[in-house]
Amino acid sequence: MDKKEIWKNVLSCLEAELSKPTIAAFFGHTELGSFESGVAKVLCPSHLSAEYLKTRYQKLITEVLGDLSGQSCRVSFEIKPLPPTKSQTLGPIFKTREQDGLVPSYTFENFVIGFSNQLAVSVAQVVTENPGKLHNPLFLHSSVGLGKTHLLHAIGHAIKEQDQEATVLYSPTERFTNEMVRAIQDRRSMSSFRKKFRSVDVLLVDDTQFLAGRVATQEEFFNTFNELYLAGKQIILTSDRRPSEIKQLEDRLVSRFSGGMVIDIQEPDLDMRAEILRRKAAARGANLQEETILLLAEQISGSVRQLEGVLNQLLTIAAAQNTVPSPELVNGVLASLPQPKRFISPEGILTAVCQKFNLKPEVLRSPKRTKEVVRPRQITAYLLRNLSQISLQQIGELLGGRDHSTILHSLGKIEEELTRDPFLRSQVEALRAELSPA
Ligand code: ADP
Ligand code: MG
Repeated sequence: MDKKEIWKNVLSCLEAELSKPTIAAFFGHTELGSFESGVAKVLCPSHLSAEYLKTRYQKLITEVLGDLSGQSCRVSFEIKPLPPTKSQTLGPIFKTREQDGLVPSYTFENFVIGFSNQLAVSVAQVVTENPGKLHNPLFLHSSVGLGKTHLLHAIGHAIKEQDQEATVLYSPTERFTNEMVRAIQDRRSMSSFRKKFRSVDVLLVDDTQFLAGRVATQEEFFNTFNELYLAGKQIILTSDRRPSEIKQLEDRLVSRFSGGMVIDIQEPDLDMRAEILRRKAAARGANLQEETILLLAEQISGSVRQLEGVLNQLLTIAAAQNTVPSPELVNGVLASLPQPKRFISPEGILTAVCQKFNLKPEVLRSPKRTKEVVRPRQITAYLLRNLSQISLQQIGELLGGRDHSTILHSLGKIEEELTRDPFLRSQVEALRAELSPA
């Protein structure tokens, strides 16, 4: 039997254990590189896929190969060698997938659209269709785990799909900084550093809040930005806050960053959380009951990353126990989560603060700005943010229609005071303990 046939047999044996979509998704681009005296090398399309298959399926594949060949086997996962380079004819080397830094699964297709991100997605699509022409730069911001990085990659993929000649480069801000520092140390490489970042059609820079306070990086970034911008190239940036809120960012960069389209992503609502769970479970070949999906979606608010984390935990436990992820199992998993990840109702927080400070909720929501009201209001905002993890906008609404920058200011104020006021710390800790007993 040749290697191709052996591998085909292995994959069809896997059907007893895994769903067809799972097999297609994870093994579709794999092949058997070699198989001699029980030692098999599986070739994978990327480093990520090799890692993933190794952690999840090494044991299973080893067993199946052992059964098929009637000998004890060892299996390793390696990256497929690249096909002979045609880069001379294709142009600059960073046109290839390996060099653009894009994660294959972060596509528009895999991105669930809901109320909280629909605006960001539609602007992203407009940019995709008209790179460099409308909305330049596009600046996406949100708190962590809400899909900025995913969306950034999705735009990169879509632009490349549309125009195979387009050069796209994804770089986290940290990488820009590190490569710049290295280039400065080795003077000769400065020009290739500049060429790398300034000769692309689309530059995707993630987490620009990390430019804060870095004078030399900001200078270099400013020049990179201008050169690309003037050449009509598309620039897309992300950050955990809007440009004007990034501390120690030069005014000229704040103004450049704000000069195109600034748009935020909010936390997913219940419907969207449920849809994300459905899609992520299906992608993993798990069949979750609707009841289970809704229970999870209701109990876990906050970021998509958190949602994914709990789902993974649930599926892993279910697989280990060889059971389906029932509502009982969900409750067990939720109970084992650290408290802050669990949902504490915003109303509960409001009531607890009002009781402690002997205030009526109406007063907390009123425009009143006396000391007796301002402090409890700030504490409420702080607890809402940390315990129920609702968005700044939602906190603002709950506190009488204040806007999100006011809330951000309150949070900053409390966080600062907490570091130097032990009495405030004890008040906040008492409330936190009351709301989420360990
Ligand atoms: P951020 O960059 O805002 O911190 P990420 O883009 O890293 O967030 O998203 C965290 C995880 O959640 C990723 O695995 C991403 O694929 C997933 N995710 C976020 N938003 C969505 C969405 N709308 N649909 C599907 N997956 C999402
Ligand atoms: Mg990110």
